[in-house]
Amino acid sequence: RSKAEGRNTYRFFEAKMGEETKERRLIEHELRHAISGGELKLVYQPQMQIDSGEIIGFEALMRWHNRRRGDVPPNVFIPIAEESGLIVELGDWAMLEACREAASWELPLTVAVNVSVVQLHSQDFPQKVHDVLVKTGLPPHRLELEITETALIKDMNRALGTLRQVKSLGVRVAMDDFGTGYSSLSNIRAFPFDVIKIDRSFIKSVDKNQQAAAIVRAVLGLGRGLGLPVLAEGIETSDELRFLTEEYCSAGQGFHLGEPASIEHFDHIVRASRHVREKKIAAL
Ligand code: C2E
Ligand code: MG
Ligand code: MG
Ligand code: MG
Repeated sequence: RSKAEGRNTYRFFEAKMGEETKERRLIEHELRHAISGGELKLVYQPQMQIDSGEIIGFEALMRWHNRRRGDVPPNVFIPIAEESGLIVELGDWAMLEACREAASWELPLTVAVNVSVVQLHSQDFPQKVHDVLVKTGLPPHRLELEITETALIKDMNRALGTLRQVKSLGVRVAMDDFGTGYSSLSNIRAFPFDVIKIDRSFIKSVDKNQQAAAIVRAVLGLGRGLGLPVLAEGIETSDELRFLTEEYCSAGQGFHLGEPASIEHFDHIVRASRHVREKKIAAL
């Protein structure tokens, strides 16, 4: 290869990198206006008790629809929001919105909200959680904050202090995407979690893949030993669900049980009136 060719290749990469940076800046700029412009919304995915098949709560997931770009997936905009610090504003919006929504439900189901490490370490995070609970009237035990394992490593002592403060409000804390981060075992002991969410990469084909099965059984054993319920993420098939049922996994979430959707879609689940009516009829 000639020197000139090498130089051209380098220029090509340089130009490509420049474009990517520009694109990220542009997304960041547009994201800044997304809240005020009403471009953000939350969708909700049901979380189910596996043995009874009862819905125990919903995870709130952020969606961004931009007029020019269309739907931008969280895997694209969340990392940009984290790098730019915008995630604090976005995350605070999501927490308030989700709590307000959950407070309006007739049944006392939990609402799980994802919290970025940037947001967790932001100024007065526990105070903000407290204020949201007061403002919306949601009972603290109905709010669950999902924090990824990897997030905690950044500044362990500070994260631990913040989590303890949040827990003292009566809020629940979940370890999200368990198994994908580092030093999982020491984290799980040190941090005051109420539930472990096994990452969906281990649930995929768990009924057929021996390695995945071994890992999932180990996490379930860990949960049992520590007295922590385990929720399996990303259940996509009835075979995966059957495996988890046979292994006594506490809870599950996934396309097979219910895809994330607007809350109106779950009206019949969050409203108790239908059940109450049925009970009344039965009592007559
Ligand atoms: P996560 O918290 O682990 O959320 C679960 C993700 O898995 C969601 O993707 C959900 O749609 C997807 N999922 C659920 N069931 C299945 C399944 O059966 N199969 C497959 N393939 N996927 C399934 P989504 O909504 O695209 O969000 C991706 C990630 O973005 C989330 O992962 C979370 O880390 C982040 N995120 C989403 N909303 C928020 C938010 O409000 N705040 C923060 N900080 N992060 C958020
Ligand atoms: Mg989550
Ligand atoms: Mg997850
Ligand atoms: Mg995730």
